[in-house]
Amino acid sequence: MASALNDTEVRLGHGSGGAMMKRLIDNLFLEEFGDEAALPGDDAGVVPLGAGRIAMSTDSFVVTPQFFPGGNIGRVAVCGTVNDVATSGAQVAYLSCGFILEEGYPIDRLRQIATTMAKTASEAGVKIITGDTKVVERGKADGVFINTAGVGLVPPGVDLSGTHCRPGDVVLLSGTLGDHGIAIVSQREGLSFSTTVESDAAPLNRMISSVLAAAPHARCFRDPTRGGLASTLNEFAEASGVDILVREADVPVRDQVRGACDMLGYDVFQVANEGKIVAVVPADEADAALAAMRADRYGADAAIIGEVQAPSIEGGHTVRLETPFGSRRILDMLVGEQLPRIC
Ligand code: MG
Repeated sequence: MASALNDTEVRLGHGSGGAMMKRLIDNLFLEEFGDEAALPGDDAGVVPLGAGRIAMSTDSFVVTPQFFPGGNIGRVAVCGTVNDVATSGAQVAYLSCGFILEEGYPIDRLRQIATTMAKTASEAGVKIITGDTKVVERGKADGVFINTAGVGLVPPGVDLSGTHCRPGDVVLLSGTLGDHGIAIVSQREGLSFSTTVESDAAPLNRMISSVLAAAPHARCFRDPTRGGLASTLNEFAEASGVDILVREADVPVRDQVRGACDMLGYDVFQVANEGKIVAVVPADEADAALAAMRADRYGADAAIIGEVQAPSIEGGHTVRLETPFGSRRILDMLVGEQLPRIC
């Protein structure tokens, strides 16, 4: 049960993807807008339309800096929404894009962002069919903010939700953790490593489709963006009323990312990713799901990282991390804000 919203003003943590944001959503937005399609807390709302069902999602992008190793705000803006719609199992078809521009922003940079968005949409096989442009006075925004929304058709019989995890299910992760967050923070802070850490921003709709074909009883998918893997798993555990155990030794992390997290005091499990998928599937479909992930161009490092367990406390939900030494610690949702404006 989420605690009531006692906050009197908006704070940075309300956009963190972690516990504070969840408190704001549960106790303000869902109280006001809580349609049943939104209540499971999944990344896309799935609703009937005509003879079928559509999934729809929207996301705003305020990342700073706007250009970073591995991409720019435009790539993240397309991938973020494509991935949020795709996690419902929908075939993502169309996107909108809204730009909020600051007076004085260089047109050639805006062109680069738009070119990247067009290329990324084409890679994902989606079309950008409508948009909006607003300009605010110098100093009233920070360069470029982008909102995207996306829609897709959900194939008959597909019903994915974070509420569907069951004890015995297996948790998969499609690749290395923390690349996006560390790419952004190193660009922002002028940190350098022996090799550059690049953002992992990528459209994962094709990967999700092929995992779903290989593991037709998959329970849910989610992209562990703000708040990282820890927040995603806590959302699944709470929504399904289960515990989740993750084996740290099985979680792929690049050496530079691990080093940067140690240096900066970040928990890599709470660092944002923009090109990774967490999947929960029944145990007997886990190997097929893993093979499908690894066959995708963005899934070479995919791994089985843990399992769903019956709740250790009645009605509870806990995510635990088993360290390589065999000890266990609680993997908490991000509290407060770790890295504002990461996406
Ligand atoms: Mg998401």
